[in-house]
Amino acid sequence: MMEKRILVVDDEDFHRELMQKLLLKLGYDVAIVDSAEAAFSHLAKEKVSIIITDLIMLEMDGVEFCRKIRETDNKTIVIALSGHTDLYDVDKLKEVGFDNHLTKPFKIEVIKEAIQEGFEEFRRRTEIQNNSF
Ligand SMILES: [Mg+2]
Repeated sequence: MMEKRILVVDDEDFHRELMQKLLLKLGYDVAIVDSAEAAFSHLAKEKVSIIITDLIMLEMDGVEFCRKIRETDNKTIVIALSGHTDLYDVDKLKEVGFDNHLTKPFKIEVIKEAIQEGFEEFRRRTEIQNNSF
């Protein structure tokens, strides 16, 4: 049984708590943090399969956050969720290592599908890694 653990990173209380409520309702194990820095502290203690991150945040933004994750981790699914994905070049988001990008306000179905796909892809990546040993 694969782990259904998700980390949500967003500097706005409203968005963070809304995502938490939604993901819990969908039956996932979810943790929320308000910054990229807090996310790294969390990830040092606990592994997750999917990270859903806001793009515009003070200190470290979502793009820098993803780039930093990818320095050591090519397995975790990283999804951008922002009201301003249009401010970012899609190719650039892919280039820094995002697996997907979604726009706020979001439809529950869209989130649900992206997460299901994310877990499937995570499982594939984990299997490939396990088989290489
Ligand atoms: Mg923000």
